Amino acid sequence: MSSKRTTESVQAQPEDLTVRILSLLKEKEKERPVRKVALQFPEGLKRKAHGISEALRRAGYEIVISGEPCWGACDLDLDLLKNSDILIHIGHAPVDERENVIFEYFSQDFDISQLEDAITSIESRRVGLITTIQHVHLLDDIIQFFSDRGIECVIAAGSERTPFKGQVLGCTFEAAKNTGCSEIVYIGTGLFHPLGVHLATGARVVAFDPYTGRTEIPDERRMLIKRHALIEKAKEARSFGILLSKKSGQRREELARKLEVLSDKADIIEIGEITPDALLNFGYDVYVNTACPRLAYDDQARFPVPVLSPQEFEIVCGAREWEEFEIDEIT
Ligand code: SF4
Repeated sequence: MSSKRTTESVQAQPEDLTVRILSLLKEKEKERPVRKVALQFPEGLKRKAHGISEALRRAGYEIVISGEPCWGACDLDLDLLKNSDILIHIGHAPVDERENVIFEYFSQDFDISQLEDAITSIESRRVGLITTIQHVHLLDDIIQFFSDRGIECVIAAGSERTPFKGQVLGCTFEAAKNTGCSEIVYIGTGLFHPLGVHLATGARVVAFDPYTGRTEIPDERRMLIKRHALIEKAKEARSFGILLSKKSGQRREELARKLEVLSDKADIIEIGEITPDALLNFGYDVYVNTACPRLAYDDQARFPVPVLSPQEFEIVCGAREWEEFEIDEIT
């Protein structure tokens, strides 16, 4: 493992976002007139809103910016679209195709030579290669870099939610599973994705973070101990609130209904933004999350009661054994 820092080497893609958005609008205008444009930014890019809005106004468009929280392409502000000609969702690739929505994903370069450190942690000569949308455009160069060092990379198509080969999301690891490799290299930030990939595939995962320059081998043991404890606590619950998301790409109604019949103590709660405050007055002993899978795993510390994944709720209800534990994905 290593830790060479590299802030300077992680850069936004050189082409200007505003220029690309203007060109996408011009393309759209070949099909039909566009005047009212709604812009939606994820939390990490909201500070770009003013500059882009100003430039588009100067180009003659009427602009409105979504003020709602946004964490992914699963979270489109469709209300805003009702009064606009088009919604431009910035930062993510589409998880589904929608009329009148343009997805403009955000790419970030990094210095590929940093991967030299990751190579020392790889055990196989043939590995699966996956990344998040920010770095997908670098995959060909990375494959060449590995090949020059005697390592063959396999990249595979994922699910409909991940339109690029080799792309993973926190809710779908299909591109990792489809490599069929017993060792997978993940390039991106954080440990959630590589841990998810490890649990979903059983493969050894080498995770390289281009922001910190650090390589890690995720270990699921701590997470599983915590999840096991939550399941045990949930077995004593007198009431369960099954959370059904209103968000465009997170709504799993069929799943929520399937879970509801497992317990006569379970109610379905339809909800937009899932926060501790939003749930406070309900007072359920346990919540079951059918929205973004990361909520149950990553955000548990924010909630005073257990928030279980669908599979964990099945274990509580006796419909699944602990040995059949699976990471939740939206497929
Ligand atoms: S459901 Fe969660 S992990 Fe999947 S795209 Fe949306 S925010 Fe990301």
